[in-house]
Amino acid sequence: VSALSIENLEKTYDNGFQALKGIDLKVEPGDFFALLGPNGAGKSTTIGVISSLVRKSGGKVRIFGVDTDQDFPGAKQLLGVVPQEFNFGQFEKIYDIIVTQAGFYGLPRKLAEERTEKYLRQLGLWEKRNDVARTLSGGMKRRLMIARALVHEPRLLILDEPTAGVDIELRRSMWEFLQEINAQGTTIILTTHYLEEAESLCRNIAIIDKGEIVENTSIKSLLKTL
Ligand code: ADP
Ligand code: ADP
Repeated sequence: VSALSIENLEKTYDNGFQALKGIDLKVEPGDFFALLGPNGAGKSTTIGVISSLVRKSGGKVRIFGVDTDQDFPGAKQLLGVVPQEFNFGQFEKIYDIIVTQAGFYGLPRKLAEERTEKYLRQLGLWEKRNDVARTLSGGMKRRLMIARALVHEPRLLILDEPTAGVDIELRRSMWEFLQEINAQGTTIILTTHYLEEAESLCRNIAIIDKGEIVENTSIKSLLKTL
């Protein structure tokens, strides 16, 4: 069964704009997959629909075979999403954000605390655990969002432009971290508008433009055609 299977996915926003024009996509378990496309192509819309934050207009989404329409809680457990932007509450502290998130996924308190420590340490945020998230630098917020997406240990991790606006040093350390997570068995999909990022990290790639998939192949064969 595919880690992600999307069939004929359509999204028309309330203003009548058709952001997704019938997209088909399959990502196999263990893959490190890039969804590449220019700004406005429909990448965030696709992620929004997969995570059920954006209501789709048509089509099917399955996560490890679980239909997001038929079993939303089941699909949610299998999926972690790192959005591009996130507004933290005014006084929300790093530690509490992660523990609370674990609670949303039904983790018992003790396990939630263990996982929170594990991922805050892995992402270099443990020393800052009592800081208010709003006061963090952009790069730290990004790492916080990755910890938040991983705390229930999803089988599929999706990141929306994870390294946009991040300096080169942090970008490299994020790449290494994601490669480790992938090597441990987590399927990863990221969106990017840098071919270089897709090339450094990913095995397979789909290119989206104006709400349509225009290419879907391995990075190796894509680079041969350029
Ligand atoms: P849905 O169809 O999923 O309910 P909506 O069309 O209601 O989505 O829009 C959701 C939100 O996005 C609205 O608050 C809207 O103001 C905002 N929005 C509208 N146009 C754009 C745009 N071009 N890009 C980003 N956000 C937009
Ligand atoms: P990307 O992530 O590839 O930059 P998006 O999925 O954010 O692209 O946007 C795809 C298209 O849909 C863009 O033209 C954008 O302006 C439009 N769009 C995004 N959100 C909304 C919304 N809520 N209402 C209307 N149009 C939207």
